[in-house]
Amino acid sequence: MKSKESSGAVLAFVVQRHDATHLHYDFRLELNGVLKSWAIPKGPSMNPHDKRLAIMVEDHPYAYKDFEGIIPAGHYGAGKVEIWDKRYYTDDLDSEKEQAEKYLNKGLTAGHLDFILYGKKLKGAFTLIKMKGREDNAWLLIKQEDELAEHSI
Ligand code: MN
Repeated sequence: MKSKESSGAVLAFVVQRHDATHLHYDFRLELNGVLKSWAIPKGPSMNPHDKRLAIMVEDHPYAYKDFEGIIPAGHYGAGKVEIWDKRYYTDDLDSEKEQAEKYLNKGLTAGHLDFILYGKKLKGAFTLIKMKGREDNAWLLIKQEDELAEHSI
């Protein structure tokens, strides 16, 4: 039996560690057939107290979720790309794909996106929230308080 992931019945997410001029983590959520993308300088955190700056960048093609390798010198983003985490996500109500996309599109427009990650490293409820009074592309990625959250001592 095919898994939900390979059958396309769920929405993919991926985090690519990108060792370019400045190390950052590219956080990508499948939505509307493309990957909505944010560059996170410090990377995502499982600690709700870490509010991580996430700069929204251009959409990437869906197939880019599988990309790992070296972007050659002289090309934009030159450096090593590794998949840091990858699996699937839903909206915060754990809806089926079609319904989840409706909610997520509303959230994206409103600048407040609630979702659940089912990754290997990133698990549970997260929020992406657009910062007010900043450049148009500045968001914060925040782990929500839930039983999967990790707090430093
Ligand atoms: Mn990048």
